[in-house]
Amino acid sequence: MVLRPHSLMTIPAETARVAKAAHRKPSLCMQIRDTLGPVFTDEDFAPLFSHRGQPATSPARLALVLILQYAEGLTDRQAAEQVRARLDWKYALALELTDPGFDFSVLSEFRDRLITGAAEQRLLTALLTQLREHNLLTPGGDARTDSTHILSAARTLNRLENLIETLRHALEALTTAEPDWLRSWVPDEWFDRYGPRPDAYRLPKTETKRRALATQTGADGQQLWDMITTTPEKAYLAQLPALQTLRQVWVQQFYRDRHGKIRPRDPKDQGTPPATLRLDTPHDPQARTSVKGDLLWRGYRAHLSETCDPDTPHVITHVATTPAPVPDLGMTTTIHQDLTEAALLPRTHLLDTGYVDGQTLLTSRRRGVDLVGPLRPDTSWQAQAGKGFDITGFALDFDQNTATCPQGKASSSWISHARPTGYTEIHIRFPARDCRACLVRTDCTRSKTRGRQVMARPRAEHELVTAARAEQATPQWRRRYHARAGVEGTISQAVRAFGLRRTRYIGLAKTHLQLVLTAIAINLVRIDAWLREVPHGKTRITRFQALRTAA
Ligand code: SF4
Repeated sequence: MVLRPHSLMTIPAETARVAKAAHRKPSLCMQIRDTLGPVFTDEDFAPLFSHRGQPATSPARLALVLILQYAEGLTDRQAAEQVRARLDWKYALALELTDPGFDFSVLSEFRDRLITGAAEQRLLTALLTQLREHNLLTPGGDARTDSTHILSAARTLNRLENLIETLRHALEALTTAEPDWLRSWVPDEWFDRYGPRPDAYRLPKTETKRRALATQTGADGQQLWDMITTTPEKAYLAQLPALQTLRQVWVQQFYRDRHGKIRPRDPKDQGTPPATLRLDTPHDPQARTSVKGDLLWRGYRAHLSETCDPDTPHVITHVATTPAPVPDLGMTTTIHQDLTEAALLPRTHLLDTGYVDGQTLLTSRRRGVDLVGPLRPDTSWQAQAGKGFDITGFALDFDQNTATCPQGKASSSWISHARPTGYTEIHIRFPARDCRACLVRTDCTRSKTRGRQVMARPRAEHELVTAARAEQATPQWRRRYHARAGVEGTISQAVRAFGLRRTRYIGLAKTHLQLVLTAIAINLVRIDAWLREVPHGKTRITRFQALRTAA
């Protein structure tokens, strides 16, 4: 499609007159239009269009429609209908009253175009630029971040359901591509086995029968794959996405025994892939399973960062979407990197325990960001015992590479290990002869033959962690950290008011686009509230909790 840029700067006079007469108090989209102007220009999206083909609908208008759609929780059909029928939407989009709008399918095509051109982030960047120009966003203040889980749009399947559904999905794809060829050889019993949708309710209950069914499914899937790959004129079918998924799931879930038979893997086998790689549904191959505390979910993880200065609107400045098992800790540096590039790096960043460790404290300090978040407690049994034999009881001399234990004994070795994850660990050992003769050995080590071993971080990290742990015990720090809780309200708003809990789409890229659009919609609602002088909501705490922060 070819782009013929339109200007949205001027609202047609008749549209403005009628919309203002009908809306004595401007609606959200009119308020935003009056304050920020059109927000997007067609030129912002020019790289997404070719130089040939049909003229495209104005991408700046479509981008605004997507955002208003999220702000009001509408389907594509409903959003397209609003463009035709709503006066305030016509005002915001600078359309003539007689404009017939567009077919709702244009929105889906435009989302695909944004994803193909990796232009999702441009939407948020364009809004943040406007907010800065209008002094509604000031970089360099306080910010806070939290994450939440997003459920996949696909049905959750157990392991056996996933195997059957994956084969069923592949057969459906082959039925569309080569129905005659498939019918010519497929065994009749497959229609009973893979015709209906698998449902745990109807599947065998005993472990023996379930394993037998999994073995049968494995053999059937392998037979299907062999039929395709040994028939030269049908080999192209192996490239169908559903067949590629089948292949991947079979590699992950089955193995060939020494007699050449296909067997289901034991989930505890070494060959079973980790959660970050395992495909759990053929309908959303990028969704992954993760566990956080008591919560188990299949899908993705969203990170939201917002400003939290009391005298400005609280604006979401960064969003990130990852597969569900990616831990929060890995995102701290990514968020700071992205905010640096956008010139929106905060001075103070409030986060929960999942985002903070010695290394992130150090890298943030080097960027000029004061990371405020509780460090994980030392979980070693020595720390739990509270008798002074954890790392804090040892004097570390980073110049001489030696340590002295609580009994005054010197270490015998000090070795640094650089981990593939980028972390450096220092392993310190004490002489076995000293520890064996030590009167307080049982408080220090459980080994009866070897000396105590202590794991430390490099000096800069160690000193930062020691200072941060001491600071976190003070009431001043707790009062400062209290402001982080507000981001949970933002997560709650995104989930309850904007439907973020379950993705509308399949795949990571579209889920991320949903997160970006949700973040922009929240920002518009907040800017609207700020302009109407609605005060910030306060984080509610009980009187009992208030007692502690007041201490
Ligand atoms: S067990 Fe070894 S390291 Fe621990 S206090 Fe005794 S001598 Fe020191």
